[in-house]
Amino acid sequence: MHPFIYNALPTRVIFGFGTVTQVADEMCGLGCRRALVLSTPHQAGDAAQLAAQLGELSAGCFTEAAMHTPVEVTAQALKVVEQAGVDCVIALGGGSTIGLGKAIALNTDLPQIVIPTTYAGSEATPIIGQTENGLKTTQRTLKVLPEVIIYDIDLTLTLPVQMTVTSGMNAIAHAVEALYSKDANPLISMLAEQGIAAIARAIPRIHADPLDREARSDALYGAWACGTCLGAVGMSLHHKLCHTLGGSFDLPHAETHTVVLPHAVAYNSEAAMEAIGRVARALGVDNAARGLYDLAAVHGAPTRLADLGMAPGDVTRAVEIACASPYWNPRAIEPGGISDLLENAFTGKRP
Ligand code: NAD
Repeated sequence: MHPFIYNALPTRVIFGFGTVTQVADEMCGLGCRRALVLSTPHQAGDAAQLAAQLGELSAGCFTEAAMHTPVEVTAQALKVVEQAGVDCVIALGGGSTIGLGKAIALNTDLPQIVIPTTYAGSEATPIIGQTENGLKTTQRTLKVLPEVIIYDIDLTLTLPVQMTVTSGMNAIAHAVEALYSKDANPLISMLAEQGIAAIARAIPRIHADPLDREARSDALYGAWACGTCLGAVGMSLHHKLCHTLGGSFDLPHAETHTVVLPHAVAYNSEAAMEAIGRVARALGVDNAARGLYDLAAVHGAPTRLADLGMAPGDVTRAVEIACASPYWNPRAIEPGGISDLLENAFTGKRP
């Protein structure tokens, strides 16, 4: 066994069907009496329903959450928090809504109850990314770690199939990078394998039947497992490339993770042979990079950065940005190799 350091994160997790009915009890458990419910405009109806369910415990809704946590949206939400005399926030939605809840907590120290409806995994991390003047910066602080996560499988039944696949691949990416992280530890590596396997077996079943409750349950469990991995250990090349492509080229988050992951795994496959062998084992394939590519391609997810709005000339600039301040990675960051990786991701070449 290699030496390791492990920090457990303090979060209460409730997982099951119909668990959204437990929000009021959880608020009382935190000693809170007045919540602001957060969502994107798309999920405003669900937020209103939750606010109605909470009755006097609700101070209303703020439904303007947006991708990459723009600071302007956070400023608007903070005004509402102050005017309404709120003592906690409830984020109902995917990573964008959870990001807004975290930004409010960062500024106010208010407790957060989080009800995730995608597989992005942000709820289980003390990480926040915020965008200001077109630049996305990320920080790790326990101030943004949600106090309570309520996973309600029923709320994920409406997640469209393509978003299910890309969000699931986003989750798998967290577990893959946890397995070869420089601060990997045996508990998180075990969870990473379980998370990858749970999502990989859920995707074909949800693709065949989006209302398959057992498959949805596997996927959401996998999302928690993979998010916990991201929260516990460091990220490497794959996340750096996705942050670059999202932050500087405005490419969509989950789709970009889906396209880049097989190529990042191929780049690292020799330098992190044991970890990537575990990824292959969890997927039930011989070659992890090809297995990930096929998991996306067979289930209708994008495989080309060219299809996500990237221009051919952007690859050179993306290589420069990603290589200028790289994250630790098992294989040295070589601009020529990163350029090949991004070209392959641009054209959608199977690794
Ligand atoms: P998202 O939250 O932007 O959701 C995409 C769209 O799907 C939204 O319109 C949303 O309302 C809708 N949606 C969500 N759940 C739904 C459901 N069950 N049914 C129908 N529609 C639903 O997408 P995302 O990929 O979950 O989050 C991306 C954001 O999360 C990015 O900003 C990313 O940086 C952040 N993120 C942060 C971390 C972290 O640890 N800090 C981790 C992962 C992602």
